[in-house]
Amino acid sequence: MNSIAFIGLGNMGAPMALNLAKSGHDIRGFDLLPANCEAVRAGGVAIAGSAADAADGADIVITMLPAGKHVLAVWNDVLAKREQGKPGALLIDCSTIDVASARQAHERGQAAGCLTLDAPVSGGTVGAAAATLTFMCGGSAEAYAAAAPVLGAMGRRVVHCGPNGNGQAAKICNNMILGISMIGVSEAFVLGERLGLSHQALYDVASVSSGQCWALTTNCPVPGPLPTSPANRDYKPGFATALMLKDLTLAQEAAAAVHAATPLGLEAAALYNTFARQGNGDLDFSAIIEFLRLRSGDAATKDEPDAAS
Ligand code: NAD
Repeated sequence: MNSIAFIGLGNMGAPMALNLAKSGHDIRGFDLLPANCEAVRAGGVAIAGSAADAADGADIVITMLPAGKHVLAVWNDVLAKREQGKPGALLIDCSTIDVASARQAHERGQAAGCLTLDAPVSGGTVGAAAATLTFMCGGSAEAYAAAAPVLGAMGRRVVHCGPNGNGQAAKICNNMILGISMIGVSEAFVLGERLGLSHQALYDVASVSSGQCWALTTNCPVPGPLPTSPANRDYKPGFATALMLKDLTLAQEAAAAVHAATPLGLEAAALYNTFARQGNGDLDFSAIIEFLRLRSGDAATKDEPDAAS
């Protein structure tokens, strides 16, 4: 059993902290929002008065925060307090943040004598609640080995992607594939609609052909062929458009920093940016199909062409 501080008890952090508590660890949590702290108390998460207090004396400190600036600020507070006390903790950041801030956080933690790991996740709030997340880890072999059993209590797969920051690199590369492929699948459905092809017929062919991908067969952007996809519940996420835009923006920042040519990633970020600014940030990212229909000159039509006529 470890003593673990969990900082950031939002949509992802709360269920993750609860799963750690369930697996027998001693958890002290903190979030700036008192309501988020209260929500996990009954599940066995003790609440501290600040991030630094939560981390004081803990073996492991986990952060699950919105962006790099929050992670750097919290790690600084935690380390400033710990430097007067016991060094040597393991610091794990599970947030999705920019690669440069992640590497800066590693340096800061290691300078204070801590093991450090960036370990962003995929699997969303459903995976966080069910403890089926995938963790993509960047850091030393020693940090990875120390963290893997704890991460395993919150997820199904824990992958070591290489040195400092490589977990974040894997996350944004994966999500750039996802953002681009969802637009590709959506474009195909919109073209199919215009050509009089039913959603089911296109799904039946593409799902067993070379067009097969997660965006089609797990998160199909039209209602009908896959009853569990967000399209069947008015695009309630799922994975929100605002989060997809965040990840595509991080990918573009990283691409600019290392001079990688990612023209489709750039275009995907631009399309999601416009779609989000039209007030759709809370919709599942597969709702981008409605934006493509509008660009095709249609009012958004969710019905199959044969059903509508
Ligand atoms: P969220 O906004 O629900 O939670 C973030 C929490 O951090 C909030 O409760 C906020 O009050 C707290 N916070 C901010 N600054 C703080 C500070 N200084 N000290 C303590 N608490 C602070 O966001 P989320 O959906 O839980 O996402 C968290 C991270 O996980 C993000 O980096 C996100 O990109 C990533 N992520 C989210 C999903 C998803 O489906 N929601 C999926 C994969 C990855």
